[in-house]
Amino acid sequence: MRSRYSAYVLGLGDYLVQTNTRAPRAQEAAELSSWGKAVGWSGLEVRSTERGSAADSSGVVHFVARFVEGGALVSLQERSQFTRVDGRWSYVDGEATTSRVKLGRNEPCPCGSGKKVKQCHS
Ligand SMILES: [Zn+2]
Repeated sequence: MRSRYSAYVLGLGDYLVQTNTRAPRAQEAAELSSWGKAVGWSGLEVRSTERGSAADSSGVVHFVARFVEGGALVSLQERSQFTRVDGRWSYVDGEATTSRVKLGRNEPCPCGSGKKVKQCHS
């Protein structure tokens, strides 16, 4: 699951569709790549996990991922279901809620770039 967060940060759309049990839409890998690179990632916080050990074939991860998009800090909170297929964990589905906090245009961007919000991700 952490590897999927890293894949979003790095814009590795192919990895994201390969580790999703659902068949990808046309252009989905390319869209995920460009979106992942466009927003400003500011962290992954794993709140809890259930199962998911080497002895399990399924697991649940409750996490919050934060990113800057459209001048706001978005917190995506999700309880994701994972399944292990051929030794590799893949995403099944999840229940997500997002909240947005508007950022000041002259604040330092929470992505850690050192730029002001208005100069980052526009
Ligand atoms: Zn930024």
